Amino acid sequence: MASDVSWKEKYFKELESAETRHKQWQDERSLLQRMLVRTSLASEGQTPELDALLAKLRKDLKKKHFDVAGWRQLQEQIDRQVARLDDQPPAAPNRTPAETTPVAPRQRSQVPHDASTPATTTAGVPGDSQDLADHAQRLRLARRVGELLDYMLDRVSLDDQAERQARSLQQSLLTSENWDELREGLNQVAELVIVAMTRSQKEFEAFLKNLDERLALLRSHFTSQSSAQTERLSDSETLEREIRDELERVGQEVRASEDLQQLKVSVSQNLASIGQAVQRFRTRETDRERMLSEQLQAMQEKLAAMEAHSEEVQNQVRRERVRAMTDLLTQLPNREAWQERMTFEFSRWQRYGHPLTIGLVDIDFFKRINDSYGHKAGDKVLQIVARELGERVRATDFVARYGGEEFALLFPETSPEEAQVAVEKLRQHVGRLPFHFRGEPVSITFSAGLTGFAPGDSEESVFERADRALYDAKDAGRNRTVIAPSLQ
Ligand code: GH3
Ligand code: MG
Ligand code: MG
Repeated sequence: MASDVSWKEKYFKELESAETRHKQWQDERSLLQRMLVRTSLASEGQTPELDALLAKLRKDLKKKHFDVAGWRQLQEQIDRQVARLDDQPPAAPNRTPAETTPVAPRQRSQVPHDASTPATTTAGVPGDSQDLADHAQRLRLARRVGELLDYMLDRVSLDDQAERQARSLQQSLLTSENWDELREGLNQVAELVIVAMTRSQKEFEAFLKNLDERLALLRSHFTSQSSAQTERLSDSETLEREIRDELERVGQEVRASEDLQQLKVSVSQNLASIGQAVQRFRTRETDRERMLSEQLQAMQEKLAAMEAHSEEVQNQVRRERVRAMTDLLTQLPNREAWQERMTFEFSRWQRYGHPLTIGLVDIDFFKRINDSYGHKAGDKVLQIVARELGERVRATDFVARYGGEEFALLFPETSPEEAQVAVEKLRQHVGRLPFHFRGEPVSITFSAGLTGFAPGDSEESVFERADRALYDAKDAGRNRTVIAPSLQ
């Protein structure tokens, strides 16, 4: 049957979509896990009991199946330890927390304006120099968790209220100087990650359940089709046998009969039996057809409803994907989108060998904007610079927010010298933008590093070269574009 083919196609499509969804869920999960590991590391060094619980948390995270109830219990134990800590007078921390490989923007040791901490002595901020060093270290970690939280929020859907809370939490992680507040914030991040993880697991389970129901429906359709087929076959065999038997009986009677009148009666009786057998067969066949068509109709209705639901889920997945590829603040493609495009352009370059140039742009002294005019002003600058970059490159070029105040660009079919002309125009344009903060005119400049893809390059090597060129531009006084010296 032709419709069988389309049913089967549907069946396989369902399986395929399950795989995609599974992968997406795993990505989300590993992101959340990284987040939790970071947070737990940032909270370490208070007491041996708390450290042991945090270590257990990290160990549990490595398990394949995670046990939400067990986690909640662990979280409660951690909360109790933290509460006990809060009751004690502040003691010097016993060690500095370990660093792990960040997911958030790369760290650069040579950056001159690194997050240094003003030596204020507000509540929760220690006084002597060792304490100050520890405090600065912790502040850095809290900032990193804050950045990571931003990264997480761009990818994981929370309900509105949780999202609002998470945003304000992120704000305090990024700006607060008060360690008590930060420690509380870090604990909340752990709780938030568990909420997000439970939610994303629940969504995934709901999806699987719906899929399972649809597959079961399709399977039951196949089954009733084939059992109807089997019945029809055995009914027509019965009919054939009944007709053959009756005809044989007629033959015997014709051979044996001497009385024509009697023969007539018996032949017409036999013919009536055959007629009845055919009638029985027809009735059964009609019943079967009615049953099948009712079944088909019911199934089609059910499937249509499920498909409508599935479409809704697919749309949601699509929306989430766009969201996961877009930077929330600037609406530019984000780092994931960058990675995808980079891989795409890199393989095109490998295949066709046409010129391809990469550019890294970093706003100069951006920390000063935040420090002098506040984080909101900094955000506004990022939005405006991002918009100008996005609108002023060619449609075939690509701009992403790589992280913080750093943007990455790809210029296909363009040599580094040609790309430099474009970036220089951008630089001059951005430098002339009329920013005003607290009534003062402020000019924003950026530095850029450019390099062309050259034989032997990998995605990483070319990026590193552009990064070095960017730092050469910074070293040479900023507000300029540097092309990396070409390879040998
Ligand atoms: P340089 O000229 O060497 O690049 O100096 P810089 O101050 O621009 O560089 P640095 O890396 O020291 O500081 C970058 C600052 O950008 C620190 C960080 O707080 C800020 N930042 C990163 N992301 C955001 C954001 O989303 N919003 C705001 N307002 N600030 C951000
Ligand atoms: Mg930077
Ligand atoms: Mg900068």
